[in-house]
Amino acid sequence: MNKFDENCIFCKIAKGEIPTTPVYETEDVIAFNDLNPQAPVHILVIPKSHYPSLSEIDDVELLGKVANAVREITKKLGITSYRTVINTGEQAGQTVMHLHFHIMAGREFTWPAG
Ligand code: AMP
Ligand code: ZN
Repeated sequence: MNKFDENCIFCKIAKGEIPTTPVYETEDVIAFNDLNPQAPVHILVIPKSHYPSLSEIDDVELLGKVANAVREITKKLGITSYRTVINTGEQAGQTVMHLHFHIMAGREFTWPAG
């Protein structure tokens, strides 16, 4: 059973209350395009259940499924080089408090990140 936070925008996407075209979907993970893409490919991968951040997810099996979804999505799209970002907390730039992995690809990325 997925658990949702009724005020959370990504929970609404996970529940289907906000329509989206999933890039990938299983019983407990969904991926969709970022509304404000920062690269030619910019996909968000989330557990359907509400966990506010990486610091607060205590289900390691589910966390593994989210990471595995990143692997499967990039493989399916034929993307071999990509940037994966997980912002945790406001200082790091997290704006949506539902754990999400960013997949960005299709351009050069600098390192160290700013
Ligand atoms: P972060 O800053 O790491 O919390 O990332 C939040 C991301 O969610 C940003 O890149 C936003 O563009 C994206 N975003 C916010 N609302 C939506 C939405 N309704 N659908 C898709 N992406 C969204
Ligand atoms: Zn949520």
